[in-house]
Amino acid sequence: MECTKCKEKAVYNGQGQYFCKNHFLNYFENKVFKTINKYELIKEDDVVCVAASGGKDSINVLYLTSVFCKRYGIKVFALAIDEGIQGYRDRTLDDLRKFCNDHNIELHIASFKENFGDSLDNLKDKGLENNKKPCTVCGIFRRTLINRKSRELGATKLITGHNLDDEAQSFMMNLLLGNMSHNAALGPITGLNLNDKFITRVKPLYFLTEKESRLYALLKDFKIDFAECPNIEMSFRAIVRDEINVIENTLPGAKNGIVNAFLEILPTLKEYYKHNKPFKSCKKCGDPSANDICNACKLEEELTHDNKKDL
Ligand code: SF4
Ligand code: ZN
Repeated sequence: MECTKCKEKAVYNGQGQYFCKNHFLNYFENKVFKTINKYELIKEDDVVCVAASGGKDSINVLYLTSVFCKRYGIKVFALAIDEGIQGYRDRTLDDLRKFCNDHNIELHIASFKENFGDSLDNLKDKGLENNKKPCTVCGIFRRTLINRKSRELGATKLITGHNLDDEAQSFMMNLLLGNMSHNAALGPITGLNLNDKFITRVKPLYFLTEKESRLYALLKDFKIDFAECPNIEMSFRAIVRDEINVIENTLPGAKNGIVNAFLEILPTLKEYYKHNKPFKSCKKCGDPSANDICNACKLEEELTHDNKKDL
């Protein structure tokens, strides 16, 4: 097949649009910069923290965000969380360190071990005993730590590598679990701004699919290990992801359909849930929390209590 825009060999087919390497890279980058501009994801006086893991989405978003920020003289740095997943995170963090070094990007790393007492590898059995899958434990600790560290480092915006597939999955997961108020906090700009200790999270890859993100990383020749976290298969997200992929195969454009339909109702959802009770501060760590003690502190206590007694 030939590129729709020139006669070069096409490397990409997006529902009838064929692009050669150069036109695909342009298409991808323009979409990211358009999303940043249209939704005002980054402003000139922002201090930008990119939540990076070393995976393809985070490397892509880190690269393009740093290009954007450096163009406008906006401060940008990367923050990674080391959950402690041997054979996986240690490798992606090596890729990330090298990438940041090669591209002159400041990198900070915060670990579960230093902040919550132990690695995810060591905590996950205890989590399973308490009916918590590894991704649940990981999600609670990671969200808390990213918010806390980015705030301590002076960030006013937190960039994440969430793509269109992630958003379609999150929306469907919340729908299936009956958590509609959680959907009100999705979108290109995350959250309901219920506490000023929350750093606003934004998603420049919002309108790009997983497949497009993979192709961009490959064509840019970024040195990335495309392996998945070994714990993902145990998660509810993996079930929803696989089902949506099956639907997309028989109905191309279904993922776009889900996200576009969601964006239509998002203003109504935000309006409906805007009076949710404002977050207060956790009595233990001071971070935003819906209750007296935040989920991360509760979980830390639950998972490390016995270990501490043994010391
Ligand atoms: Fe954490 Fe689950 Fe993601 Fe692995 S797949 S990094 S355990 S949330
Ligand atoms: Zn707390």
